[in-house]
Amino acid sequence: MRRFNSSNQASGAAAGRDRASVLVMSLAMWVEDRESSPVEYTVSLNAPQTQMVDIRMVIRNVAGPMLDVAMPVWRPGRYQVLDLAGGVRGVRAVTSAGRSLPIVKTDKTTWRITTGEAEEVTVSYRVYANSLGDRTRHVDDTHAFLSGAAVFFYVPDRLKDPVLVNIEALASWKIATGLECVRGNPRRLFAPNYDVLVDSPLEIGLHDLMEFDINGKPHQIVIWGGATYDPERLQADFAKIVKSQAGLFDDMPYRRYVFLIHLGPDASGGTEHLNSTIIQRPRRSLENAHDYKTFLHTVSHEFFHTWNVKQFRPAGIHPYDYSRENYTELLWVVEGTTSYYADLTIVRAGIIKPDDYLRILSDSIHTMRNRPGVRVQSLAESSFDAWIKFSRSAPDDPNFTVSFYDLGALASLLMDMELRSRTKNRVSLDDAMREMYRRFPLSGKGYTTSDMIALLDTISESRWDDFFDRYISGTEPYPLESALEAVGLELSIQPEKKHDPILQSPYAGLNLAEHNAGAVVGSVLSDGPAYRAGVVSGDEIVAVNGRRVSASQFDEWIGLLRPGDPVTLHIIRRDELRTVSFKLAGKPNGRWTVSRMKHPADSQKAAYQSWLHQEWPSKSSEEN
Ligand SMILES: [Zn+2]
Repeated sequence: MRRFNSSNQASGAAAGRDRASVLVMSLAMWVEDRESSPVEYTVSLNAPQTQMVDIRMVIRNVAGPMLDVAMPVWRPGRYQVLDLAGGVRGVRAVTSAGRSLPIVKTDKTTWRITTGEAEEVTVSYRVYANSLGDRTRHVDDTHAFLSGAAVFFYVPDRLKDPVLVNIEALASWKIATGLECVRGNPRRLFAPNYDVLVDSPLEIGLHDLMEFDINGKPHQIVIWGGATYDPERLQADFAKIVKSQAGLFDDMPYRRYVFLIHLGPDASGGTEHLNSTIIQRPRRSLENAHDYKTFLHTVSHEFFHTWNVKQFRPAGIHPYDYSRENYTELLWVVEGTTSYYADLTIVRAGIIKPDDYLRILSDSIHTMRNRPGVRVQSLAESSFDAWIKFSRSAPDDPNFTVSFYDLGALASLLMDMELRSRTKNRVSLDDAMREMYRRFPLSGKGYTTSDMIALLDTISESRWDDFFDRYISGTEPYPLESALEAVGLELSIQPEKKHDPILQSPYAGLNLAEHNAGAVVGSVLSDGPAYRAGVVSGDEIVAVNGRRVSASQFDEWIGLLRPGDPVTLHIIRRDELRTVSFKLAGKPNGRWTVSRMKHPADSQKAAYQSWLHQEWPSKSSEEN
């Protein structure tokens, strides 16, 4: 079989992308020198303590009697309709001579200006920026974080026009962003079009800054929020992640990359952008060893998006339509495959040990196999309905939905194992990723499920439509037991304590949380007896078989019974006491566990090594 090799092609792509970044810089100068200018915004942060941002937007070469300006209804990286126009205050429009122009709103996000044949229109408005957790816009007396889609109006038929952004802020405030500045002026920024503006968030204010180079390209780490950390170690760990992923793709599709980091008390999550990312974490993420590894996992995830979705992108979300939902059945690749590689990268880079990774994998498989929703919703449906389901969680989600992140990562693992076993480990998902990057450049149309199947067919010289029918658009259980043999691993149920027998343990099917010394029902799992008996989300369980319980005591009490035993719950629902009775079901008491085979073949050890970039441990090191 032909060994699939994309390194030469990827180098070609690299040269093309380097030329592209030179072009962006010279375009910035060209735009600056021209008489007719691009859409130009001025961001004024004159009273950050009020959390208000003032925006002035100058639109030149206006033609026609009407001009529409609008705020996006979503931002890239978050597949949910957001109320971004809701924070806009006091929209005004004037001509270059200062004459006021009439404005009416035509829908919740669009303002229509009667231009009176003016060739230049200046639109000014204010934005209330107090939304930190969704990574859209936040301003206070220490900083401004501005994600383009939440701050900058667009002109619907001028999305491809170049953009200039002027920043007015305190002299002591620094600006960090993936955008290039014009003629060395850090307060005058350039974007070749609105998409790039939206995908280049601005962090303006007081922050720590670290820099390192990989393959001659500068990388910046910007930290707002402050914590006690070792900058050398931080840079070294980030560099390992960058090197590993740049090595996988054999290319870095940017001139410069910026990691923006917000530290705060309850911060979590991250969003990928074109040549930057914004990651939010609690301060302990840099101060506690365990949390630090979780933080690096997020760094690894967001950085992998630099290729997966910021370069090769599903056709349904490319080009971006800012006025409505952008549907695709492929978010499982965007987020799931990225999550899979986030883990693989930190093992490959030596940040976590293979055994740690096998534990993470075991937990993820255990969770999937205990979620009734995996038999109901496919990955394709989960992706498509992200806008109304994944982004808007409901108590019955575990019964009817899957996460395109978590299940998408396991589908990616299954695909990787399948590629390896079909090709005797000559081709892996690494090759598929490189080929996706080569075949579907950002300048193209984006890829579809059929494109992806065709690509896998080619690189593995075998058919993939059946795999997609079963596991992507279908809900068949993943045959991970056989799949993991490709890399010398086995999957089995193991007791919680070594040498304990696997028994049927009592099962009610309730997820509970502590509340007022009682146990409040979060979700009721459809494969348990409590569901059929009519326990619902929000019920407060006050007693089991006549004894008062808290959430943790509930599990203890149930653990003393046996499958088939009767249970009576006293429940408060809408201030009324009621009783619910049912018989406990049974479930195996062990956990799904991935482990290395005792007697692997040499080919399995070799596949394991090419998968994790770590050697199969020798007998003596296993015993230590
Ligand atoms: Zn992601």
